[in-house]
Amino acid sequence: MKKIILTLISVFLLQNITAQTTYILCGKLIDVKSGEITSKKTIIVKDNKILDVMDGYVLPKSATAITIDLKDKVVMPGLIDFHVHIEQEFNRNTRLNKYILNEADVAFNSVGFAETTLLNGFTTVRDLGGSGVNISVRNAINGDKIIGPRVFTAGKSLATTGGHADPTNGSSRVLIGNPGPKEGVVNSIEDAKKAVRQRYKNGADWIKITATGGVLSVAKSGDNPQFTVEEVKAICETATDYGMYVAAHAHGDEGMRRAIIGGVKTIEHGTYMSDETMELMKKYDAYLVPTITAGKEVAEKAKIAGFYPDIVVPKALAVGPQIQGTFARAYKKGVGIAFGTDAGVFKHGNNGKEFGFMVEAGMPAIETIQAATITNAMLLKMEGEIGQIKEGFYADIIAVEDSPIENITTMENVIFVMKNGKVYKDEK
Ligand SMILES: [Zn+2]
Repeated sequence: MKKIILTLISVFLLQNITAQTTYILCGKLIDVKSGEITSKKTIIVKDNKILDVMDGYVLPKSATAITIDLKDKVVMPGLIDFHVHIEQEFNRNTRLNKYILNEADVAFNSVGFAETTLLNGFTTVRDLGGSGVNISVRNAINGDKIIGPRVFTAGKSLATTGGHADPTNGSSRVLIGNPGPKEGVVNSIEDAKKAVRQRYKNGADWIKITATGGVLSVAKSGDNPQFTVEEVKAICETATDYGMYVAAHAHGDEGMRRAIIGGVKTIEHGTYMSDETMELMKKYDAYLVPTITAGKEVAEKAKIAGFYPDIVVPKALAVGPQIQGTFARAYKKGVGIAFGTDAGVFKHGNNGKEFGFMVEAGMPAIETIQAATITNAMLLKMEGEIGQIKEGFYADIIAVEDSPIENITTMENVIFVMKNGKVYKDEK
């Protein structure tokens, strides 16, 4: 008994020694739930959680508490990007990477990408595919070994043979081997189940499939359907068994339709989505992740001779400029929108540009921020933990200079970043 009491006392003392309380004075605070911008608020953060949000500027009574003055800034919850590739950043040599980089090289590259992402206000990301090093990156961030956002990762994407995420596309026959479910290549219902279970075993949080052709793979079609409905269903049902949702890369309408009917939760890009498929999205409660920034980037880079392999150029020129228009139509039709950029196709850290492109396409600024906070938190099944500045939530808090309602490009210049109660950037 005495031992238990002593243990309890020491736990209590330890908690109080390590507990750090921070008072953040906010000139303006965006309440993403109501969509209102409030003035003069104080957020009290204790350790990694939000303890309280109070009216007016409240100063701490304790001498050990820290005060952060953001009285002339606009404060909001940390942003969530639902489509990044934390392992890579596309350049003209990317095609060779799988032959010249070792896993350790990929890992070291990721360290910088992860840090840049966080320092630009993205406190959480969903990583939609890499070599599998992304799982280690997530673990290293969670273990405080490197700096980065909270990562929810798909590990290695699933594709069919020759499909968008077949890792051997464009390679010499000497090098391709026979990739199967373990490597993320599936060609039957049994393969599909095995590949999902393998991802679970590897430590993935989500499943990503490439439901249609894609722009940057060394393959001819950028939009053909690449899975049968039965294969998608097998993937989604198995993912459900293991507590995971499925994301589907899709440009072409038929592949998208199969993916939605098969049960995926998010459609990435959605380039050639028909009106009928938009209705299907609503019916099946699937969300569109627009990635407009990536679309613009590939269309631009395709104009530079030799930047992409020859087979990629026409796809980039056709698909890239379409994405923003499709997003505009989908938003108007009432399709659920989850904020996501495809960072890695363009430079990590430029994720904030997406807000401006979404506003340009007709979505009100406050709704773009809601898409990057409460919507994505809900899709991560973390709506009670991240995505709002509210008592009991993780202290993921950022600030910008201006009101994004009047100037959306302010989202490209985040000047304060706190993640999990810790300040990573303070440039006020
Ligand atoms: Zn992507």
